[in-house]
Amino acid sequence: DTLESASDYLANLQGKQLHLHNFIDAQFSEQLFSESWLDSHNPRTGEVLAKIPQSGLSEVNRAVEAASKAFQSWSQSPRQERSDVLLRIASIIQEKRELFAVWESIDQGKTLARARVEVDRAISNFRYFATYTLHEEGSARYVDGQPSTLTYEHRSPVGVFALISPWNMPLYLLTWKIAPCIAFGCTGVAKPSEVTSITAYLLGEVFRQAKLPPGVMNIIFGDGPGTGSALVKSPRVRGVSFTGGTKTGIRIRRDTVEDIGKHLSLELGGKNPTLIFDDVNLAEAVPLAATAAFENSGQICLCGSRIYVHKVIYEKFCSQFVEYVREHYRCGDTIGPVVSKAHYDKIRTYLLQAQTEDATFLTGEVPTEIPEGGYWITPTVLRDVDDQSIVLREEIFGPVVTISPFDTEEEVIELANDNPNGLASILLTKDVSRMRRVGERIDAGLVWVNCWLVRELGTAFGGMKASGTGREGGAHSRDVFTNLRTIHVR
Ligand code: NAD
Repeated sequence: DTLESASDYLANLQGKQLHLHNFIDAQFSEQLFSESWLDSHNPRTGEVLAKIPQSGLSEVNRAVEAASKAFQSWSQSPRQERSDVLLRIASIIQEKRELFAVWESIDQGKTLARARVEVDRAISNFRYFATYTLHEEGSARYVDGQPSTLTYEHRSPVGVFALISPWNMPLYLLTWKIAPCIAFGCTGVAKPSEVTSITAYLLGEVFRQAKLPPGVMNIIFGDGPGTGSALVKSPRVRGVSFTGGTKTGIRIRRDTVEDIGKHLSLELGGKNPTLIFDDVNLAEAVPLAATAAFENSGQICLCGSRIYVHKVIYEKFCSQFVEYVREHYRCGDTIGPVVSKAHYDKIRTYLLQAQTEDATFLTGEVPTEIPEGGYWITPTVLRDVDDQSIVLREEIFGPVVTISPFDTEEEVIELANDNPNGLASILLTKDVSRMRRVGERIDAGLVWVNCWLVRELGTAFGGMKASGTGREGGAHSRDVFTNLRTIHVR
């Protein structure tokens, strides 16, 4: 009966080993004796926190089969019915807000305050798409010169989707895919990251309580090369909505290239510049740039990880920034560990490289080879890093930021754009014409001027260049999950 309620199960563990279970056709599968389990670790201690099923081809096929079967009726269901289910899901998560937040914080390492924000955003994802589909507009018109021929555009749900998400904002990013998938009449198989699967496990129970029909959304667990890869390659999967690293995005694109009609939305990595001009008020610019760099221990794809400061205020900015970071970001208190040993090692490699290249560590140091306790890395501020160094070119995705000086507007646009990525950017200036002038030339799908991480769910979310293809949000999500046909009627 532990499988009846994921939340009761988690609440009554009493020292027993936590095992997660796939959620297929509205049932948690019993596979306690499965031979293949993955260990997921507690980032604060390094101990094993949970055993995750390493779902093989037969589990993937079972989930895809359930979604295919459910698609027949779900794709025909009234929009109002889908909307009602989504609103029920939102309300149940709201009731369980603290349960979700606590497990997200334990599993991912983020602070509880940060976890609560993300649970609230997950609730908004369901509410937004629940109502979006009820207010869509369309129009029909006569073909020019042919007054007896009417033409209009018609949309229908694409089919079964693979929804694959990373570990940095587990619940929030998965629901950003699940909500529109359900709202636009598709069905799906969701696979969270094997590093942070617990809140997705709780979500299965919410779907049952909300009476989401069996098979509409299935959740399976496992790693990328095994489970994720089998899922995206399944011929009955008609679309993939993926958020994760650029290398994985390339892999998925390669794995699906011959299935030309498969819808593909890829939200990938970033190495986002923060541009700070000499007209800013430093008392405002310093906290904003620090938050953008260190929120969630720098593990948000939108973090501003390379700061460029006008040379006139460069020295002053560096000293105030370091002072602020030392005072406001303390490991264990206001900043969590990084998510896993593998990620700790990756960040450490970049910091060793910075040390080898004689970068200046204004705060932080190269972490020890063997992590002490959990995967803790002191917030690190670097300067004197060469423009061509991999430390400045590649996404580190941890609590590490570089600060470099610039002279002219033209120069800083060039520095900002001289990077393979193009996800987000932050401009800090008081000059209104510069906001537009610079903002419109930065290679970034998202530009924040004097703010960061503000989102309106109807606007496009996504990146340029190596940061991805496709956009999600509002009508952009509709384009991902629906097929468009133009009909002519004489
Ligand atoms: P990752 O690419 O390693 O994994 C992401 C997901 O893909 C996981 O669920 C993983 O199991 C799965 N996966 C891995 N290989 C696969 C394969 N061959 N086929 C199918 N699925 C596969 O990324 P990560 O380390 O979990 O997350 C960090 C990355 O995510 C960073 O690069 C970050 O910038 C990016 N990210 C991007 C956005 C965005 O919206 N653009 C948001 C958050 C994170």
